[in-house]
Amino acid sequence: MKLYYDFHIHSCLSPCGDTDNTPNNIVNMALIKGLNVIALADHNTGRNCPAAIAAGRKSGLVVLPAMELTTSEDIHILCLFERYEDLCKLEEHIRGTRLRIRNKPEIFGEQAILDENDEKIGEEEDLLIVSAGVSVEEVAPLVKGYGGIPIPAHVDKQANGLIGILGAFDYGLGFEMVECSADCGVDLPRIVDSDAHYLWDIAEAEHFIEAETCSAHGVFAALKGLCEEGKGARGGKGAERKE
Ligand SMILES: [Zn+2]
Ligand SMILES: [Zn+2]
Repeated sequence: MKLYYDFHIHSCLSPCGDTDNTPNNIVNMALIKGLNVIALADHNTGRNCPAAIAAGRKSGLVVLPAMELTTSEDIHILCLFERYEDLCKLEEHIRGTRLRIRNKPEIFGEQAILDENDEKIGEEEDLLIVSAGVSVEEVAPLVKGYGGIPIPAHVDKQANGLIGILGAFDYGLGFEMVECSADCGVDLPRIVDSDAHYLWDIAEAEHFIEAETCSAHGVFAALKGLCEEGKGARGGKGAERKE
């Protein structure tokens, strides 16, 4: 079945994410847009994922747990998971490596952790938009080791994109999929996401993947399948299919 997706949405836990980007608002906006599956990908944390997954379950939207990891070179890597427990293990790993700088909400923005009813249950005190002590060479094996799919985010953007920072795409780094907005010249399957920091930026139902079932398992298996196609035979079918 065709599942319309947006795998890169920030919540109010990202300091740069709008405070209106609560788990329920994100889920409801995604449904209004006609999406079937989203991933919540805050900077270096997945702590609003349980609320978003629960909100999605109530409303019939599949929500994958994710994070947008910042490598030590300031490259953004979208890390998609099937299970929240696996994402937690990655978060625990990088938490110990991140520079500990206290967030100043008045400068960087609030970092609110919410429950499935959008009630505030905590706040992340350390600034999330700092680099983790994980290099771009280490990140793909690390994320795969915890069961995730590492995807260089917005590779075609100058700011925090892999190509902009390294100067070229290095196929030896172990990535099997990229995220970009248009043809970025990388010979791997690609996904197209919104990187929404505001509700209105969440993607329209434009890009889809073919999955067996409309579930986290089905979507993750479909993504893994695309990665397999991308392995070895570069130029395999992309995830970017547009009507
Ligand atoms: Zn980014
Ligand atoms: Zn982002």
